[in-house]
Amino acid sequence: MRTYEFWADKAAGLSIRNQAFIGGQYVDALSGKTFSSINPATAESLVQVAECDGADVDLAVKVARDAFEDGRWSNMHPAQRGKRLMRLGDLIMEHREELALLESLDMGKPVSDAMAIDIPGCARAIHWYGEAADKLMDEIAPTDPSALAMVTREALGVIGIVVPWNFPLMMACWKIGPALAAGNSIVLKPAEQSPLSILRLAELASEAGIPDGVLNVLPGFGETAGQALGLHMDVDMIAFTGSTQVGKLFMQYSGQSNLKRVSLECGGKSPHIITQDCPDLDKAAAAAASAIFFNQGEVCTAGSRLLVDRAIKDEFMEKLSRASASHVVGDPLHPDTTMGALVEEGHMKRVLGYIDTAKAEGATLTLGGTRTEGRAGYFVDPTIFDDVTPDMTIAREEIFGPVLSVLTFDGEEEAIRIANDTIYGLAAAVWCRDISQAHRMARALRAGTVWVNCWDPTGDMTVPFGGFKQSGFGRDKSLHALEKYTDLKTTWIQL
Ligand code: NAP
Ligand code: MG
Repeated sequence: MRTYEFWADKAAGLSIRNQAFIGGQYVDALSGKTFSSINPATAESLVQVAECDGADVDLAVKVARDAFEDGRWSNMHPAQRGKRLMRLGDLIMEHREELALLESLDMGKPVSDAMAIDIPGCARAIHWYGEAADKLMDEIAPTDPSALAMVTREALGVIGIVVPWNFPLMMACWKIGPALAAGNSIVLKPAEQSPLSILRLAELASEAGIPDGVLNVLPGFGETAGQALGLHMDVDMIAFTGSTQVGKLFMQYSGQSNLKRVSLECGGKSPHIITQDCPDLDKAAAAAASAIFFNQGEVCTAGSRLLVDRAIKDEFMEKLSRASASHVVGDPLHPDTTMGALVEEGHMKRVLGYIDTAKAEGATLTLGGTRTEGRAGYFVDPTIFDDVTPDMTIAREEIFGPVLSVLTFDGEEEAIRIANDTIYGLAAAVWCRDISQAHRMARALRAGTVWVNCWDPTGDMTVPFGGFKQSGFGRDKSLHALEKYTDLKTTWIQL
């Protein structure tokens, strides 16, 4: 086990990439401007980072376009593209400690989680699409025998990728993997709070043999660099993960510019349903606590609405309280810490604001509810509200912090009604022994993923991930993700 001293030492000796990565080179922003990247666990600045804007976006898109058009990557044998992606996956694992530390310092998550979950998840995604690169066949359509009609998938061209700060490298890798496997070029804008791990990844991609100009990374702000990418006339697609509010802006940018394709992985308010037929209340309680406290609750699929059947409510709440005690706020570099800092001061205040609103609206606080004492950074204690009703603000809005809303229901029908009473549809779970009821409920839940008798159990790449309703559209992970980075072409040959 790596100790706190190990990580503190490593942090002291860390050299941080802080420039934009364009055409295979680290460069300053054209304006020369920089912004501060803060460590939210200490509230201190880590490093000044290049602040790219529209001019840098123009430059990077031109570089990415040239790379696409001359075929250095797009026309490479798919098996060769796959090989280089495999090498990149290996390099991610070889640099696992450094990348995990960058992730933790930049956005506050426990370094042990970044080591165990984020970085291996990134490598798995890149490996998976590397393996897939030369495994996809196109189609011959069953036309009249007088013709031969081929249906082929072609890379789109230049992909703009815009990602959030909660899993900075993993959200990027879920998109980089399939976009590169399909032969596209990329201009990626990380969240302003978390550019550091992705900037390092760009260099590893070069080392893996991904040609210059194919993967470009521009740190900067959403309102400038992000918007410029969204409005750019020569970007063929935006692959976005972030809030529903900003997702809607990317739809507008597309309509105002070149009708670029848009895929959106947006917010959630996922219901976690414990029926009276739950096969294991202890296991369900442990899952319910992890579902909201993992990654400080900064998870798009957080199980933020816990729906418990009245018949087992008291027994379950006792078990939940015991399970929650194992979630401990602490220094993200300490190996025992399971909850780190929230990403920035403004976000912490927003989360604390929701806690005030919940009290004012009459919910009952049963755990936490305050900023963690004795720490300079932006830490909030694990928080649970009981007696939440579906109309309360904390049952409706995405908090993106360690705040659980507990709602009570009577029977299957009411559970489904409450669960689906939301603008979101990212994920849902139901705990239930009866296979017929489990299937019935899974079918009735309006969500892109439904878990039965578990909550987000694996980082499995084989299944698609994405939302219904205002949680967005388009899917990350699985072979389906490749669809959005390609267009279908029909070539009809009259014989
Ligand atoms: P966000 O505010 O929507 O930001 C996401 C990205 O969009 C950032 O890179 C941001 O840049 C950029 N952006 C912001 N304003 C923009 C604008 N006006 N034009 C163009 N780009 C703009 O989301 P966040 O706070 O970083 O992340 C939290 C959200 O992400 C939550 O809603 C969460 O549910 C969602 N999320 C969804 C998934 C999923 O797969 N469904 C996964 C993880 C997170 P700046 O950082 O510079 O503002
Ligand atoms: Mg932001």
